[in-house]
Amino acid sequence: MKKGLFPGSFDPFTKGHEAIVLKAIHLFDEIYIGIGINSNKKYLFDTENRIKHIKELFKNYSNVQVGTYQKLTVDYCKEIKASHIIRGLRNSSDFEYEKSIAHMNNAISSGIETIFFLSDEKHSALNSSIIREMYTNKADISPFVTFPNLLAKK
Ligand code: ADP
Repeated sequence: MKKGLFPGSFDPFTKGHEAIVLKAIHLFDEIYIGIGINSNKKYLFDTENRIKHIKELFKNYSNVQVGTYQKLTVDYCKEIKASHIIRGLRNSSDFEYEKSIAHMNNAISSGIETIFFLSDEKHSALNSSIIREMYTNKADISPFVTFPNLLAKK
């Protein structure tokens, strides 16, 4: 049983993130989408809504699970028995940033490898912080986020 963890803030989970899961799914028996909760960070979208949103996106995939965690990503991998960390790369700055995280993760937990997927060109400019800015200013985010209504506060 090969499990991969796709960790991130996913504030919100965009079509770019969605595409990475759909690429990775061919290599793993199960993918865990792990929403990392950092108590020092403020999120725009409620954790509950982010979970509901991701669950709805993958409701037809019994091999995609969603969870939250509040610990080191490698420790969460061990907890859920994931052998790989999945990350997405949009450009060279993502690569430099991701490379140092992957090296650090490898240094503290040598058995867990990070596997990278290149984003499709159409998603390479898409990032959650721009979506937050648009949402806050009441712009339509539906071209970039599937089912954005699920993220709205109730
Ligand atoms: P983090 O706060 O951990 O960077 P994000 O939610 O911003 O969390 O991103 C999670 C992962 O998804 C990261 O590997 C990031 O590079 C990747 N990612 C973000 N946006 C895109 C996108 N549009 N296409 C492909 N990968 C993306």
